[in-house]
Amino acid sequence: MKLLDGKVAIVTGASRGIGRGIAKVFAQHGASVAFTYLSSVEKGQELEAELTTCGIKAKGYRSDAGDYKAADELINAVVADFGTIDVLVNNAGITRDGLLMRMSEEQFDEVIKANLKSVFNMVKAVQRPMLKAKKGSIINVSSVVGVKGNAGQANYAASKAGIIGFTKSVALELGSRNIRSNAIAPGFIETEMTASLDPKVVDQWRQSIPLKRGGSSDDVANLCLFLASDLSAYITGQCINICGGMLT
Ligand code: NAP
Repeated sequence: MKLLDGKVAIVTGASRGIGRGIAKVFAQHGASVAFTYLSSVEKGQELEAELTTCGIKAKGYRSDAGDYKAADELINAVVADFGTIDVLVNNAGITRDGLLMRMSEEQFDEVIKANLKSVFNMVKAVQRPMLKAKKGSIINVSSVVGVKGNAGQANYAASKAGIIGFTKSVALELGSRNIRSNAIAPGFIETEMTASLDPKVVDQWRQSIPLKRGGSSDDVANLCLFLASDLSAYITGQCINICGGMLT
């Protein structure tokens, strides 16, 4: 028996990186998978075809998670296509790094909209089908940067710390309705988002991590698999670090 047999999951920002890894692991474990992307249309279409080879239903939607109305329409479309939603993974995210001295208002606003408001938009909309089904698991992708801060990422850290407070509040509000809400805080995960960084800096980071390597999308996807599945039925309101020991 697969861990997510019979469940319907939606993953935001799955055209590449961590989101793609989560969508694939969910499909391998029997979930039907709806996913979103914003600009990577071709990659989204490729992923839909790839997921379908696991013998489950999969569909990609082009949708901006930071847009309130678009998120609402997306959830309606997914419910129409899949019947229900058991699992929501809010993974979509961006960086617009810079020291505070040079950070523009646009850089701050863009990151808050894509990373934090998107979580509000999606959870607000997914409440309806989850309340109706009297169950659900919400997984919000924060970051170790949201837990401990990072120079040059005040906007990103604020958005990711905001996600943790939001996640815990939703857990308190919806626990009695059997809807769980957890955050995960990945450390240094090697994806397209990190591929543009200076290789020397990347190597220094690897050496500073107790497990001496960056994480993979699969490492993060396996934690999401656990939180999406009934194995984590008594876990809600938590922020789980997945960082090779960066935070202890
Ligand atoms: P990535 O490779 O840059 O992928 C980001 C994904 O989000 C893409 O699929 C992108 O779609 C999508 N996206 C961005 N803005 C969107 C929006 N407004 N609406 C819908 N989709 C949107 O990033 P990643 O490294 O996989 O990171 C995924 C998540 O993990 C992010 O929330 C990030 O903050 C978090 N995280 C990453 C790390 C790390 O080390 N990589 C560490 C901690 C936390 P398009 O391709 O179509 O634009």
